[in-house]
Amino acid sequence: MILLDRQESEQHKILEALIRRLPSTHTEYMNYFEKLRRIHAGFAGEQRVDAEWLEIILPHPHYFLHDLQILNHFGTTHQIDTVLLCPQFILILEIKNITGFLDFDESFNQFTRTTAEGDVEGMTNPLHQSRRHMEWMKGMLQQSRLEIPIHHAVVLATKNAILSKSLRGQPIFHVSGLRYHVREWLQQHKKTVVDEDKLFQFASKLLSMHTPIKREIALPVQDLVKGVLCESCLNGQTLNYRYPKWYCQRCGAVDQAAIFRTLEDYRLLIGETLTNKSFCEFFAIDSPNTAYKLLQKLPLKAEGTTSNRKYLIVN
Ligand SMILES: [Zn+2]
Repeated sequence: MILLDRQESEQHKILEALIRRLPSTHTEYMNYFEKLRRIHAGFAGEQRVDAEWLEIILPHPHYFLHDLQILNHFGTTHQIDTVLLCPQFILILEIKNITGFLDFDESFNQFTRTTAEGDVEGMTNPLHQSRRHMEWMKGMLQQSRLEIPIHHAVVLATKNAILSKSLRGQPIFHVSGLRYHVREWLQQHKKTVVDEDKLFQFASKLLSMHTPIKREIALPVQDLVKGVLCESCLNGQTLNYRYPKWYCQRCGAVDQAAIFRTLEDYRLLIGETLTNKSFCEFFAIDSPNTAYKLLQKLPLKAEGTTSNRKYLIVN
């Protein structure tokens, strides 16, 4: 049973909205584009691993928490790609969507990646990351007075990562090996060590601690293309409004959902509060009167008197 489903992060959504609205000639465009590409690839890799679970036989009950984000009592964070809880053991997965030749030098505690072009890059050891999460989970189990074996592993979502012999014996493998490792762990821990109620309570406790981590991105708000964008034209072309329709002068599309997408872009790129003025600016509306009428149709909560009315976006 999936208790916490994997979702696109706010940062992912913000970058998508930004790329929709930033002119491709902007000096920072390629930076944001590359950042989005990486996040997108990472997310696709995680989904690839999620799909693998569908073909793996697991004991009942079992619980999945995907992309569990926790603030620990040191004030630092744990972002765990997957936690699997079953009555025999707990598994913590770190999912990596990296390519190249991966090597580990234990004496230097140095993890490197050599790209197809032959460039050598240092990287954070993903095994350390998953071990750190495991240590935290051990503490949580102790607090809850539960004794249950824990495993951690790094799963490579793409076959284009090549592991060097230096990583032999370490819990790092390709996604296709996941089912065999799970089978081994189940063989190793045949006994149920925690009853169903306690397991569910513990999984629910983890879920209640989940707090999506906010990552600030500096946004070039003044350089964004404003207006209600045409989805068919895709080149920053905006729709015009003539009561009661939004239409594209270029391709002729009529799109009544576009204003809701624009509101979501506003939420991601500007914030959750609108005024008549900020609405006119972002939605490129000339008339405050038209803006007032449109604002009434959106899922917003109005606050304040007429002259300084604010609207809060209702999720
Ligand atoms: Zn159009």
